[in-house]
Amino acid sequence: MIIVLRPDVTEEQFNHIIEKIESHGLRAHISRGTERTIIGAIGDESVLRNLPFEAMPGVENVMPVLKPYKLASRTFHPEKSKITVRDVVIGGDEVIIAAGPCSVEKGDTLIRTAVQVKNAGAKMLRGGAFKPRTSPYDFQGLGEEGLKLLVEAREVTGLPFITEVMETRTVEMVSKFADVLQIGARNTQNYELLKEVGQTDKPILLKRGMSVSLNEFMLAAEYILNERNHNVILCERGIRTFETSTRNTLDISSVAVLHYETHLPVWVDPSHAAGHWRWVNPLSRAAIAIGADGLLIEVHIDPENAWSDGAQSLLPEKFALLMKDIRKVAEAVGRTVSAGEGV
Ligand code: PEP
Ligand code: MN
Repeated sequence: MIIVLRPDVTEEQFNHIIEKIESHGLRAHISRGTERTIIGAIGDESVLRNLPFEAMPGVENVMPVLKPYKLASRTFHPEKSKITVRDVVIGGDEVIIAAGPCSVEKGDTLIRTAVQVKNAGAKMLRGGAFKPRTSPYDFQGLGEEGLKLLVEAREVTGLPFITEVMETRTVEMVSKFADVLQIGARNTQNYELLKEVGQTDKPILLKRGMSVSLNEFMLAAEYILNERNHNVILCERGIRTFETSTRNTLDISSVAVLHYETHLPVWVDPSHAAGHWRWVNPLSRAAIAIGADGLLIEVHIDPENAWSDGAQSLLPEKFALLMKDIRKVAEAVGRTVSAGEGV
């Protein structure tokens, strides 16, 4: 920890700060400049984390040297983590594409969509059975019935699936069906839910909340890791900004920062960032170019009649084109994207 003192710090204030540091078993390294004195607290600075040095008279600024997240950080785990879901490896050279409808609907839309996305090269299926909708009057998801439809689609296509779990009460039930549990943007900082999914043996796709900083995002992942579930995928899905031409603003730089700071695979959801299918292809290309390990994309066989997020859902033909486009970008950056069966 580095403590910068005010120019007018008194001898008494200075001695008090040094005493505080030393009484916690750390050594104070003092550097006296012409204008400022800087103190470096040497040793295990985590013991100082809850001490409000900023509150002490004579202190101008405090800078921690260590990151507040440990298990998620590259310091703790220098190599990039790989996560295996059935026969799919996430975090390797292959960029994994998960595609499917926003919500699981009654009827055969899920299966028909699943077959098409598989043919185009998707390695995983997505679909929500529990939906976090802005309005209580909107479709809330089929619940357990939806999970059963996802299992059926997995049996037909062989694609493992990602599905959202919204509350602690349903974690056990959803885990019985799902291959990957999704924590949605509205629950990124639902710490009880994070702890609960941290106790399952399922990989977790943790989405970034629309107003969550990257530091807060990594600390949210830390909650899951701290429960001994090490299989966490971080997913950027756009944040709230002043811009209104897209539903959210895709914070593309987050992919580079998260890769630098953490060892966890980083995915991008261009659909929820865009809010309109037109931007999904270019945002996907950008995501692959910057190093995303996977994409979560909404695809629907009949977007006009989708039960949720139709505007941002791609028709299967458009998805197949997107797959062709991102394959070229992947190749340019030394990655691969599956060709599927339809190419
Ligand atoms: C979703 O994936 O359908 C979803 C609701 O996403 P988010 O939590 O990112 O809004
Ligand atoms: Mn959606």
